[in-house]
Amino acid sequence: MTIAIRNIISILKANWVGKNDIAVIDSISIDSRSLQNDSHTLFFALTGPNHDAHVYIEELIAKNVQHFVVNYIPENVKDKANFLVVENTLESFQKFAAYYRSQFDFPIIGITGSNGKTIVKEWLNFLLSPDYNIIRSPKSYNSQVGVPLSILGIKEKHNLGIFEAGISTTNEMEKLQKIIQPTIGILTNIGSAHDEGFSDVGEKIKEKLKLFTNVNVLILNKHKTISCFINPKIKQFTWSSDDKSADVFISTSKIESKTMLHCTYQEETFDIEIPFQDQASVENAVHCLMLMLYFGYKPAIIHSRMKELYPMEMRLKVKTGINNCTIIDDSYSSDFQSLKIALDFLEHQKQHKKKTIILSDIFQSGLSEEELYSQVSLLIISNKIARVIAIGETISKFKRKFINSISFSNLNEFMAAYDTLEFENETILVKGARDFHFEQIVSLLEQKTHETVLEINLNAVSHNLNFYKSKLNPKTKLMVMVKAFGYGNGGFEIAKLLEHHKVDYLGVAFSDEGIALKNAGITIPIMVLNPESTSFEAIIHYNLEPEIYTIKGLKSFIKTAELKKVSQYPIHIKLDTGMHRLGFQENDIPELIELLRNTDLVKVKSILSHMATSDSLEHKDFSIAQIQLFDQLSTELKSALKINPIRHILNTSGISNFPDAQFDMVRLGIGLYGISNDDDEQKYLQNVGTLKSIISQIRTIQEGESVGYGRRFMAKKETKIATIPIGYADGISRQLGNENGYILVNNQKAPIVGSVCMDMLMVDVTNIDCKEGNTVTIFGEKPTVKELAKLLNTIPYEILTSISQRVKRIFYRE
Ligand SMILES: *Cc1c(COP(=O)(O)O)cnc(C)c1O
Repeated sequence: MTIAIRNIISILKANWVGKNDIAVIDSISIDSRSLQNDSHTLFFALTGPNHDAHVYIEELIAKNVQHFVVNYIPENVKDKANFLVVENTLESFQKFAAYYRSQFDFPIIGITGSNGKTIVKEWLNFLLSPDYNIIRSPKSYNSQVGVPLSILGIKEKHNLGIFEAGISTTNEMEKLQKIIQPTIGILTNIGSAHDEGFSDVGEKIKEKLKLFTNVNVLILNKHKTISCFINPKIKQFTWSSDDKSADVFISTSKIESKTMLHCTYQEETFDIEIPFQDQASVENAVHCLMLMLYFGYKPAIIHSRMKELYPMEMRLKVKTGINNCTIIDDSYSSDFQSLKIALDFLEHQKQHKKKTIILSDIFQSGLSEEELYSQVSLLIISNKIARVIAIGETISKFKRKFINSISFSNLNEFMAAYDTLEFENETILVKGARDFHFEQIVSLLEQKTHETVLEINLNAVSHNLNFYKSKLNPKTKLMVMVKAFGYGNGGFEIAKLLEHHKVDYLGVAFSDEGIALKNAGITIPIMVLNPESTSFEAIIHYNLEPEIYTIKGLKSFIKTAELKKVSQYPIHIKLDTGMHRLGFQENDIPELIELLRNTDLVKVKSILSHMATSDSLEHKDFSIAQIQLFDQLSTELKSALKINPIRHILNTSGISNFPDAQFDMVRLGIGLYGISNDDDEQKYLQNVGTLKSIISQIRTIQEGESVGYGRRFMAKKETKIATIPIGYADGISRQLGNENGYILVNNQKAPIVGSVCMDMLMVDVTNIDCKEGNTVTIFGEKPTVKELAKLLNTIPYEILTSISQRVKRIFYRE
């Protein structure tokens, strides 16, 4: 893009305060972290309930960013850059995106509905990318900020756009329509998601349909309740499984793990195979099929492409590799844009300096091969990739464009040479189109432990973080507790993500946990809740900040500070206001003040206390008394010492139940990991961890035969038993045995029969269609950790932190 700043001023009707209005802009940004010497970038300073990007302007000017759209000009940057002052930076950002969109006139597909938007978008991209140069919204960028951001990614070379739009309440869709201006609409379905924001279903349907006010065609499932809301002037292209008057009539039948779609369209009948059976995936695939028919694809091509569709969760997984490598598995697509997304993801995984990419041919139309691979090469160089392993006929021809590269014309050649290649202490991005079957490379590079894994959804972590942030006052700081390996979810990876989100503090229980994070390169301040006095030297050496909770501990820490020749060392004073676990009590305060007054070796960075019953409204009076005592004692310390430390008392449930007691900071724990003690709040959180395993063996036993130790299960009839390689040594309680608990096999409940063993358990799969090697779920979306905790008469915290370290953690983003 190149747009003169003068034009932008008039598009936004902005008030210009600056010197140089003849400049041109070549890119737009709203993320202060990604900018570096971008003198032709226009930065929109967005504000939200918890952040105000105006505070980054000074930092950006220092990095030579010169143009800003702002609500106001902060005092400290007056006259230092060029400003476009507007009423509302978000609205201006949207207005600018709408203007930008109107400069292009290729077809744009707009997708909305309650579920399936992202998957339909990703699948369409996969199905159409051999023939089009597609711009699509990354990840699930579908909101008031995400949509304009995606639109601004449109370039000259594109000839098809796919964008999703998500809304949570009325009046939002009209804005998104103006930005996306779709020419083709797809309505996936209307479910119950986000019902809160609408008075009834009718209102929700009408609101969603606003995306399609100007489309040439609307693709949807023919449905009476929806049809009556659609403007009759809009041309519809419909499908149905029960109404023969729809444009395409589809019946289905299931074979093995696949579904056959029997289609009747324009008097022709044909079959399309898709590799899924669940209702949601079938419906999503049908919407893709409809679009391909509308585009005039022949059934044979549709069939050959659709049978290669892949489940969404297969994208971008981080896995532990051989020889201390980290593998980023993206072996399901290969187009220029997804390469960019993958390289960006690689950049954020800073475990290893050295980076290798294993890359297949790129499928992309529009550019000549020469041009395409030049661009790929530039992208790879700018991401500082040390080594390129190219696999494929076409990419091999352009090997010379890459520095330090080696090429193979197909996968077999690579496999034959595998033993001669070295992989060690590096991050390896494996990126290939589905036909190249790079999953075989991933399986070679992946470290084999056992088949049980805890999958951690990093997007869900970000979502939950933002949910709790939205409850905070603008000035409240945020500490996140990552003790006990991030509640079992992974210490370093979670901390890295939190650093990216700029949280203010991390909290750990013991010094070792903090040292491990510092060694891995975490730079945000870390508070240690319970530092042993033997670790005080290490605490100072690693720049950790101790919580001090006794007079003896304080004296000892002051001594260590003296020994290590530090002064004003940050410490955190813990007050006991009723939990009776750790902390100074009211009668310690005079001595505490005395000690602190007479030293400049330490400095009180914060004062904190912990609540005993923040989750229970039954004990509300007790909580309020704790908060009041905390306020009183901390105020006393503040005035006696003439200091102004950060004060904090709330944990997750406290944030929800006592919003007026945020003081200067809160300490978020379990909520980040997707669990709320409140059932209503739970609905707003996303599931983070999914514990999965596989079926090792299946057998059928006869009436009267038994299963496992102690013969505690006796078959009353012919019974099919599956053995799963996970047991109490992995953290699965023996109390789940004897049909108290169940796991999910092929989305159906399989009761755990007999005793849970150390490394294995057995389930009844008599009525479930399953095979050896199939994946099973122990907890996740279902059964939930909360459900298990209830069954076991414990709390979710214990379930999460019990999963042993021998269970491999896999981190992924959608
Ligand atoms: C663990 C912990 C928290 C976080 O508690 P959650 O209930 O998980 O939010 C906060 N403060 C202290 C002192 C803790 O030990």
